[in-house]
Amino acid sequence: MSTPAEPDRAVVPFTLPGWDQRLHGFHCGDEVDVFALITQRYLIFLDTSATPEQMSAVVAALQPERAGRQPLVILTHADYDHAWGNAVFAPVASDGASGGALPAPIIGHALTRERLRSAEAAEELARRLAEQPRFASVRLIAPDIAYTERLVIDGGDLTLELLHTPGHTPDHTVVWIPSLRLLLAGDAVERPWPYVHSADDLPTLRATLARLAALGAERIAVCHGGVSDPALIAANRAYFDLLEERCHAALARTPTLAAQAGDLPGEELEAATIPYAEALQQAGVSSDEAQSWSYDAFHHAALRATLGWLAQSGG
Ligand SMILES: [Zn+2]
Repeated sequence: MSTPAEPDRAVVPFTLPGWDQRLHGFHCGDEVDVFALITQRYLIFLDTSATPEQMSAVVAALQPERAGRQPLVILTHADYDHAWGNAVFAPVASDGASGGALPAPIIGHALTRERLRSAEAAEELARRLAEQPRFASVRLIAPDIAYTERLVIDGGDLTLELLHTPGHTPDHTVVWIPSLRLLLAGDAVERPWPYVHSADDLPTLRATLARLAALGAERIAVCHGGVSDPALIAANRAYFDLLEERCHAALARTPTLAAQAGDLPGEELEAATIPYAEALQQAGVSSDEAQSWSYDAFHHAALRATLGWLAQSGG
């Protein structure tokens, strides 16, 4: 078995319509987007991408903003594409291990800290590294500042609120900036829809989407899919509502479907509930746009989660 070696992704700065000048976005290829906020007191990096090399490119692009500002890192969650560039910000260790190029406090939810220190994270790194040499310089650095429900950071001219928003993962954080009505939503909101891992996570993810909708954001930035329109939150909610309706009807016809869902091929799941193409159309995604993505796996995972959740809660 051999997987072709993938190069690191090209880091390209971007902006979206209506953004405040203090917010900077960086596409890391089509893998993930990371953000930076330039406040009076702090140079804040939101997520660190999948590798220290990519994150170094982000840091280099913001070099002119460093003077007079304390660098800070905020992690949305511990998934590899969001936190594996942390080595850039590593402190100089007491055992003499060298620090990163820009040592800085890393802030995240207590569960993000737990996840990055876990045996599972080390196993995932070993597994991905065996397939892809691009992960060779990744070090799993956990947040040194952890919060649980909500954390406020006063940047001088901008106040950020970190909110625990579980669902996509249990450790997920969004950053809400009330004065700008700006929501940095991480992977809690995604175009065309966020990834849900299990039936148990589904109600949590939907409750988080409802909370985020209630914030009344005027702008939104997400880590996958480059949007600024907060209507995406409503579209994500409508997707899961539609899945509930279709899966409910499917279970009424075929009560055994929930038990079989784990083993059914994606096409059969779609045929019994709602086809991928129809879901994309409902989400307002054109077939051209959809062709460059592979959200069918996300759709199948969401169908399995919805069927499982409905079966658990009595249909
Ligand atoms: Zn992600």
